[in-house]
Amino acid sequence: MPPARKQESSATKRGPAYPKAVDRLISLFADLPGIGRRSAERLAFHFLKNEEKAAADLAAALLDVKRTVRHCEVCWNLSDGPRCDICTSDSRDRKTVLIVEQPRDLIALEQTGMYRGLYHVLMGRLSPLDGIGPEELTVADLLKRLDNHSINPGQTPVGEVILGLNPTLEGDGTALYLSDLCRQRGVKVTRLARGLPTGSQLEYANKAVLADAIEGRQGV
Ligand SMILES: [Zn+2]
Repeated sequence: MPPARKQESSATKRGPAYPKAVDRLISLFADLPGIGRRSAERLAFHFLKNEEKAAADLAAALLDVKRTVRHCEVCWNLSDGPRCDICTSDSRDRKTVLIVEQPRDLIALEQTGMYRGLYHVLMGRLSPLDGIGPEELTVADLLKRLDNHSINPGQTPVGEVILGLNPTLEGDGTALYLSDLCRQRGVKVTRLARGLPTGSQLEYANKAVLADAIEGRQGV
């Protein structure tokens, strides 16, 4: 009798439990970036409340993204084919490569409509304290593009690299590291102008600031 009672009281302490399936959904949502427990509960209830089609559509879209979207073999942009739309477009200036940390930064810069060159997505930035070195990024693929013209779209030699890393301590360190490697290869190196406040994130900067940063880029 006493042990049973103990169990009961600890169950009450946890509060009313959701059915297991709901609990699972809430914790999956809560694991997503930027989603706290409260938002996770709201999302879960949204799908509970709505028709089954809403859940099926979301599940299908998630799987579709995982099955069809990959990284461009040249620049690491998101793509649904081996090469992305930017690398395959012949209206882009293929001599110029703008280096960004994430595909999100590339999208932000594309939305300005000011840049007509190609990109290279590093997939992060150097962060020695977190064990992120050049091997964890796409540095080797960048160097291949610089060293071997046949890899860059249109087999065009790269003449200028624009450093478009975020203006943070790690972004600056990465830019310095890359500018040495590019210069050793005789490639001109510039960086986006500092209209961007230090510590800010490219993907959140407004279009006008990004456009100025591209226009006013400076030699390194
Ligand atoms: Zn590409």
